[in-house]
Amino acid sequence: MLMEVTCRCGWTTRGSKSEVIASIQAHGRSEHQQQITPAQVRAIWRTVANGTKAGHRNGG
Ligand SMILES: [Zn+2]
Repeated sequence: MLMEVTCRCGWTTRGSKSEVIASIQAHGRSEHQQQITPAQVRAIWRTVANGTKAGHRNGG
């Protein structure tokens, strides 16, 4: 299962659960000087359906 996380700055990453946690933690440190915990990532991540079909997008 793929997960997707979008940062408040608009940066987005996808990957496995452990991958997106590691990726956004590195992003938070380098771009925002902020330590992001795995719990914070779990609060904002979304599952990405397999395949390439475009889905509905929620407005922000
Ligand atoms: Zn960011």
